Parts: sequence; structure tokens; C-alpha cells
Amino acid sequence: MDIVRMEDWGLGLDASKPIVISGPCSAESEEQVLETCREIVKNAPGQVHILRAGIWKPRTKPGTFEGIGSVGLDWLKKAGEENNLPVCVEVANAKHVFEALRKRVDILWLGARTTVNPFAVQEIADALEGVDIPVVIKNPINPDLGLWVGAFQRFYAKGIKKLAAVHRGFNVPNSAPYRNRPMWSLALDLKKEIPGMQIINDPSHICGTRDLIAKVSQKALDLGLDGLMIESHINPSVALSDAKQQVKPEGLASILNNLVVRAETSSDPVFNSKLASLREDIDNLDKDIVALLGKRMSVAREIGQYKKENDIQILQAGRWEELTSARKQEGDALALSADFMETLLQAIHKESIDQQTEVMNNGVEA
Ligand code: PEP
Ligand code: MN
Repeated sequence: MDIVRMEDWGLGLDASKPIVISGPCSAESEEQVLETCREIVKNAPGQVHILRAGIWKPRTKPGTFEGIGSVGLDWLKKAGEENNLPVCVEVANAKHVFEALRKRVDILWLGARTTVNPFAVQEIADALEGVDIPVVIKNPINPDLGLWVGAFQRFYAKGIKKLAAVHRGFNVPNSAPYRNRPMWSLALDLKKEIPGMQIINDPSHICGTRDLIAKVSQKALDLGLDGLMIESHINPSVALSDAKQQVKPEGLASILNNLVVRAETSSDPVFNSKLASLREDIDNLDKDIVALLGKRMSVAREIGQYKKENDIQILQAGRWEELTSARKQEGDALALSADFMETLLQAIHKESIDQQTEVMNNGVEA
């Protein structure tokens, strides 16, 4: 795909700095939208590049605030004109698209609950055929990279090349302390799948609570993501949606002012030679790890053979529990996270069982 990057959208975006999108989760009243955007620009001058507000809100249950509707587009447009900034809104069907285009919204975004549904994505892409407007696509609710990539392909096929992504985390079990687990590797995989793709991180929807936003924003930049979408409300305590995660404009300014923007690479030869030597250490250690894993698996195969000769099953549950809890304690003492130890041990266990099964059943796949 030959993506047109944000700096070439004709909206004055400068991608040498993180692109920041901010504004309320939802447009609630004209005053709330105008005041919020005014205060954002006053508190963080030059640091916010696009204004946002949800006009049609995809809510989990009916009977809650489902967005103010089209009238909010006028308020957002007015805020954009007042502050000389482009504006973006979420669209979830063709009707939203036509309304947003009629009001000359600058950028459209697809929400996580839309990206998850190929019919909805196709309907929106069809509605935009022949229109030159940037489209920003949030990751789907579930951690399915294919759906995310597929959504970009549907727009690209309709001639929309001004594309960017928003990484807002994934709704999976045990996401604590987050509302949506970041699963950073999926965002990085999107960059690999679609070279040139820029990704805006959305710490607001990842965190679900405002005190985690600064840390997640910093991590996003340290991983090379290209910008941030942070919800801000003039008075979050009375917000009609996402009250806990919205920050006041002053809070937004403090998050942005404390961010450290680090370079991807350095031209300093001293730094580069020290880095190269540390990387050599890492390479050697990784080689040792692989050699040890090979040794470990050969013992596992020997055990498999021995169990086979004695008609003993591959799996002894108690043994595995003892082993994992002992290794996790040792990992903990070395500051290795429980999550990492669990993933690592499970992968080793699976390979070990596969190898024993092969020995026992002469190549029958586990
Ligand atoms: C939003 O940005 O307000 C929103 C509804 O986000 P998401 O689609 O990420 O849930
Ligand atoms: Mn929201």
C-alpha cells in the first residue's frame, strides 16, 4: 500500500513531533465543546494538532448517552475555526459519513466497535468512494491484526490513501490495571504489515482511568508510535461518557509537557559503539539460551523414551505445577515479571510435551 502520511494530508501536521489529537469523548453542549477546545489550546499552545469530539457514541447498553448527533458537528467545526485546527469525528455508518462530509469535517475515524465489523467498514468505505479525506482506523475491540489490516485494505481499494491508525488497546480478560490491554506487539506488527503506517496511541481508552495516561503515553513514544489521542473535558466529573479517563485541559498540558521525545537512532559514534558492544553481549546470551533449550529438550526426549518403555503417560500435572511455581519464584528474585515467566514456561512446556509425544508415538503431532 502506498499510504499518504499525516504530514502530507494538507492539514499542516508536522510529523517530526508526536501528532496530538485532543478534545472531549463526546460533544455534549456548544459551550462544553468550545470551552474545552479553547482551554486545550490555551494550556498546551502549539502542542495539540487536531481536535476531536464524539458525535454518535457507540455505547454498550441502550439508555445511556448515545451522542448529541449532527448538531455537535457545528460546535466542533466552530471550535476548529476558532483555534485554526482541523477536526475529526467518529463515523460508524454511511449516514454519519454523509453528515460529516456535509459539515466539512477534516478527518474521519472508525471506532473499535466498527473496525470489528467488516460489513460496517465496507459500508463506510463505499460511502467514501471518490472522496479525498483522511481516515483514521482504531484497532478492533479484539486482538485480531487481520481485521485491522483488512479495514485499511477496504479503504485503500476505494482510493482512500490518507490513512493512519489509532491503537486503543484490546478488550481481553484480565486487563487490569487497564480498561483495554495495550498488547503493544500488535500495534508494532501493524507497522510491519503495512510499511509507512503511522500509529496514534490512545492512552485514554487503554487506561480507562486518568492517572495511568502519562505513563502509557510515554511508553507509546518510546516504542516509536507517532502520536497521541487524549480525551479532555472542561469538567470531567460531569462528563456524559468516559468520565474517569478524561483529563482537564490543564492535566493534558501537564502530560504533554512531561513527555520525553526520544530519537530513534543516534549519529554519535561513542554511543553507537557502546550500543554495539552491549548488543553483542545480548546476541551471545541469546545463543546460550537457545543452546540450553536444545539441551533441555533432548533430556525431555530421553524422558519420553523412558516413559514409553515403562508405559507411563507424558503428563504428570503435579510435577508441572511444582516446577512452574519454583521457577516463578526464582524469576521474581531476578525481577522477571510473573506474566513473562508464565508465558516463557508455558512455551517451554508445550515444546517439551510435543517432543515427548513425538518420541512416544513416532511423530504423531500433539
Ligand atoms: C472514543 O474515541 O470515544 C471511542 C468510542 O473509542 P473506541 O472506539 O476506542 O472505544
Ligand atoms: Mn471515549
